[in-house]
Amino acid sequence: MTAVPILMYHSVTDRPTPETRALSVPVAAFADQMAHLAEHGFAPVPFSAHAASRRPARGSVPPSERASGRPVVITFDDGYADFHENALPILERHGFTATLFVTTGWLADAGPDAAGRPLDRTLSWTQVAEAAAHGIEIGGHSHSHPQLDQLGDRALREELARNRGLLEERLGRDVRTMAYPFGYSSARVRRMARAVGYDTACAVANRMASGGADPLAVPRLTVRATTGPGTFARVVEGRDISRIFLKDHALTRGYAIVRRGRYAVHRALAPRGGDLPPHHGAAGRSRTERHVPGAGTSAERDVPGAGTSGERRDPGAGASSEQDICGGDAGGERDVRGAGAGGGDHLGERL
Ligand SMILES: [Zn+2]
Repeated sequence: MTAVPILMYHSVTDRPTPETRALSVPVAAFADQMAHLAEHGFAPVPFSAHAASRRPARGSVPPSERASGRPVVITFDDGYADFHENALPILERHGFTATLFVTTGWLADAGPDAAGRPLDRTLSWTQVAEAAAHGIEIGGHSHSHPQLDQLGDRALREELARNRGLLEERLGRDVRTMAYPFGYSSARVRRMARAVGYDTACAVANRMASGGADPLAVPRLTVRATTGPGTFARVVEGRDISRIFLKDHALTRGYAIVRRGRYAVHRALAPRGGDLPPHHGAAGRSRTERHVPGAGTSAERDVPGAGTSGERRDPGAGASSEQDICGGDAGGERDVRGAGAGGGDHLGERL
């Protein structure tokens, strides 16, 4: 199967917050990127349609969802208000669809469901529904944006099921696709995702998505504040991917070791059989998802290094012994490709 670029955006704005800056894309740059896709014959497809097409057992994408041009998938994480204000009009200009992964506890009018700590203004339910009505696919992104692999089973299920349940209830449609906060998962997280009703999910990994990989750990490519037109053109063509994301890949390997070590420590310290409490309860506006503000206006500076992980307070490991942060994807290059282990969390970037 031809490799398909799956692009990951967060914020599209000219006024990012310090915490979203590294992963925000200026409005004009986003407009140029979408124009580039249109001019080069790309036709975006929803993430779930692409991911489903990767599964041999399910056959090909339905004709109604099949791209008439070169397939590309455009995704947005977290649900920032600027998706509605800035990105949606540009997408509509080209007739492009996209997939928006929503953290329900972060929404502006989440009310009693509010949870977690959004890094910028977020969408309202009305705006999410409006996006859906305009052909944007809505997916889950957990309820409060925790590090899912660090949660106990009960809290993990709650994070995923509550997110999906709220989206389905408020939007009146099936939600069967999600993106993992911070871009990584573990085998236990992916099993739970499937158990609560998701059948496709994306990670980060910064490599092209080709056939054969786990539909619950489909890799994406990060588009950053510093992604210039030349780099964007190469990324969507699948050229120089390993070089463009060299630093991400190296840090992924390093950070996988950090996470394994941290997990081992927490397992040793955790109460026997402990299903540790969620660090983002429904009522808890915990600060555990604090990250190193994504410093940087340059590709170098927005990569503070694997050591930044130490600044994040670890909520404690869950009871599972199957944290294969590094494994589980298509086999082979386990550390880099593994399990959607690639990601930006370790880069000090918020995902
Ligand atoms: Zn996120």
